Amino acid sequence: MSIVDIEDLFRRSDYVLPETPPPFTLPGEPTVNILVVNCGSSSLKFDLLTMPAGREIASGLVERIGAVAALATFQVGDEKPVRHSLDAGDHGAALDFLLKQLRDHPDIEGDGNVEAVGHRVVHGGEHFAESALIDDEVIDAIHDAFDLAPLHNPANLKGIRAAQQAFPDVPHVAVFDTAFHQTLEPEAYLYALPNRLYRRHKMRRYGFHGTSYAYVSRRLYELAGLEPDASKVIICHLGNGCSMAAIRDGRSVDTSMGMTPLSGLVMGTRCGDIDPSLIFDIVDKEEMTLAEVHALLNRYSGLLGLSGYAGDMRDLLEEASAGDARCQQAVDVFCYQIKRYLGMYMAALNGCDAIAFTAGIGTYSDVIREQICADLDGLGIVLDAGRNESANGTEAQISTDDSSVQVWVVPTNEELVIAQDAMKLALAAKQSPYA
Ligand code: ADP
Repeated sequence: MSIVDIEDLFRRSDYVLPETPPPFTLPGEPTVNILVVNCGSSSLKFDLLTMPAGREIASGLVERIGAVAALATFQVGDEKPVRHSLDAGDHGAALDFLLKQLRDHPDIEGDGNVEAVGHRVVHGGEHFAESALIDDEVIDAIHDAFDLAPLHNPANLKGIRAAQQAFPDVPHVAVFDTAFHQTLEPEAYLYALPNRLYRRHKMRRYGFHGTSYAYVSRRLYELAGLEPDASKVIICHLGNGCSMAAIRDGRSVDTSMGMTPLSGLVMGTRCGDIDPSLIFDIVDKEEMTLAEVHALLNRYSGLLGLSGYAGDMRDLLEEASAGDARCQQAVDVFCYQIKRYLGMYMAALNGCDAIAFTAGIGTYSDVIREQICADLDGLGIVLDAGRNESANGTEAQISTDDSSVQVWVVPTNEELVIAQDAMKLALAAKQSPYA
């Protein structure tokens, strides 16, 4: 069906998020297929979703693009993922490979009847407070933000170019990780540096994980019975990258990542907040170049640096429970930093109705959630040990009934938000008199 035919469907659904797990579309109900593309510097991930149910039809991932042998995984529905080794010199070749798997699959019609493509773009600078239909101006703005996200935005643009070539006749939409936080006030986003650095180079806090915060906050309002317009919530997105956001009345008021995704919480390999003077001392005392320090802070710090063992929380917890003191210490620093930010954000919001944990660690680790929330009864946060233990991987309340702050586990679904925005903007473009 065409995107115009879904106009009525779109109005009716009005972008209310489906319940999780997403309900399957009723027989005879019109649907539209959206491809979600997420590119890293050497990876391309795609998810084909049928909307509005948000059901995943197929997904694929190519890693090590440009290396001698790239690796691909492709999966349709609940089938077992199929792994391939391939020659993928660039993102275009990687996408072509995945699309060929899609076309060759007996259950998939054509190349998936894609009606629009949604692209995750990491940095939108100050240009984008919302998702945008991709045209030359949007491409220029993504390009302008290369300086702000030198590892991510060039890769995102490569993905856009590759998908535009593969699907030249459908709308493409950019969904920015930074957009959700464009509601921050200057007091929260300005660094205490000479103001000309902001004016000249837009050096300020931007914040990331915006699509995750959009999804989890909306879900949290429903689950916790909150009015979005009169709510104070804190979300802890704890994956390989970790950040937190304070959200008042549906608008982000503060977030832990900064101009880049390096600051704030302790992450798998990123250091989070440090005293900036350390950089000069490291250059001096370890005789490192600035480029080497950049790599040290981004790739060899965080949980990996502290433990000297692993940046992956599962590995650390295993070693810590076997008695490794440094792994336990890394976990302790990780949890304490989050506790510190919880206090900061409760002050920023003047209280808090609900807290949600999400992403790999937040969703699956009752041990970490327990350690973060321990001894916070003075702030009205009390976990129910049994609820917390059985909540892993599901949407569940983990606080006691009389905890004045509700605490929830809410698994994130960033692909769904990207697909929803792509569908909404693609439809709007079709309706535009200028289309
Ligand atoms: P990304 O930021 O790359 O999307 P994820 O959201 O998948 O990452 O989170 C990855 C992190 O989640 C890793 O540190 C991993 O160890 C952790 N994780 C996943 N499952 C568990 C678990 N059962 N217990 C503890 N940590 C877990």
